[in-house]
Amino acid sequence: MGGRNRSVIPDQVPRRQGPRQGSPIAEDLGSADLAVVGAGIVGLAYALAAARAGLSVVVLDREARANSASVRSFGVVTVTGQAPGETWRRARRSREVWAEVAPRAGIPILQRGLVLACRREEALAVAEQFVAGPMGAGCRLFSPREMEDFGVFAPGLAGGLHSPHELRVEPREALPRLAAWLETEHGVRFLWRTHVREVAPPVIETSGGRLRAAHAVVCPANDFLSLFPEAIERHGPVRCKLSMLRLPDPGWLLPASVMSDLGLVRYQGYAGLPGVPMLRARLEAEQADALADGIHLIAVQSADGSLVVGDSHHYGDTPDPFMDAAVEARILEEARSVLRLPSDARPVERWIGEYPSARVPAFIAAPLPTVRVVMVTSGTGMSTAFALAEEALADLVGLPAPVLAA
Ligand SMILES: Cc1cc2nc3c(=O)[nH]c(=O)nc-3n(C[C@H](O)[C@H](O)[C@H](O)COP(=O)(O)OP(=O)(O)OC[C@H]3O[C@@H](n4cnc5c(N)ncnc54)[C@H](O)[C@@H]3O)c2cc1C
Repeated sequence: MGGRNRSVIPDQVPRRQGPRQGSPIAEDLGSADLAVVGAGIVGLAYALAAARAGLSVVVLDREARANSASVRSFGVVTVTGQAPGETWRRARRSREVWAEVAPRAGIPILQRGLVLACRREEALAVAEQFVAGPMGAGCRLFSPREMEDFGVFAPGLAGGLHSPHELRVEPREALPRLAAWLETEHGVRFLWRTHVREVAPPVIETSGGRLRAAHAVVCPANDFLSLFPEAIERHGPVRCKLSMLRLPDPGWLLPASVMSDLGLVRYQGYAGLPGVPMLRARLEAEQADALADGIHLIAVQSADGSLVVGDSHHYGDTPDPFMDAAVEARILEEARSVLRLPSDARPVERWIGEYPSARVPAFIAAPLPTVRVVMVTSGTGMSTAFALAEEALADLVGLPAPVLAA
């Protein structure tokens, strides 16, 4: 944990603003090797990879600051539980990049590792199978006594799974700091409040004028329609709505990010383990409502001691913007079953987030030879974006991949 007295309110980093809209003459926004549309974590990851490869980069975003999925997330760089294959590989590489970049950009790592608190014997059985398997390297089990000794977990747990691999940053602080560091240390230019209307390199048409760029990467997350809608539609994404809340400082420190039994049936990294069907059957008998709401517990702690707790998953073309009190109650119930929370703990903040969801975990489309459209469609962008960007940029600008990894 970082110092307990730090505020969770992000620094007021001065940002260069985009030109005012409505100018009668298209303003000349200059030129760059690469234009990146979207200043969420995926866009910033591309900006980093490109700047490290020696390219000049301009990032454009219609908002005045990052305000979408990335800043609304838990900020957990999750390795354990990610789908085997490319997602797991990308998570491990992205974790390395976070570990290297965070201290340079002044981003505190608030939690390290993950404890998956097992409420049921069936969950512990899945945890045991995971630890014994190829993705369990470095992980171990905690006994019920060890879980008790932390002083933060509810009594009566069957045990726990510990992974040392995870990192956790405060997204509302990390995103502005990462952008500020890219600007000052890597010369990346940011054009905020700038809606990108058309991407046809070497011309990028925006609400603030015309930019010239040899290549472009479009990272629009939930906007499926403004740019290259046909390329996006091919992957059939829908939007996933998540409910999040913040609880006051419970007076103790989390040893790591926390998950529970529900996570074992949700994360693809556990899906093939033989104990999962039995766990799922018990959860269907005991927590059918939670499963129907796509609830799985993640609890993390901010620098001021408050807890960020979530979440639920509801899918649709236009998910409603409302937070259902019953869903919140189910999230809180799961949190109380796992953590020693004061009985009167009530949320001090609530928000919803949305991310794109599709059958594939992420896609990179090439609607033009000089353009890539990149979308993480599995809610894993904070965990995988750095690696995704390194891989895909080489292909776009014709650089050898090792240059990008340097
Ligand atoms: C509640 C919640 C919790 C999550 N927790 C985690 C977690 O703990 N770990 C994890 O790995 N992942 C997590 N995720 C998923 C992760 O946050 C996303 O996968 C990731 O943030 C997506 O990043 P992005 O850059 O694609 O999108 P965003 O952060 O949404 O950024 C997209 C940006 O593009 C801009 N934009 C779009 N179109 C245009 C245009 N035409 N012109 C200008 N600007 C445009 C938007 O303004 C926006 O700023 C969570 C998501 C949510 C919602």
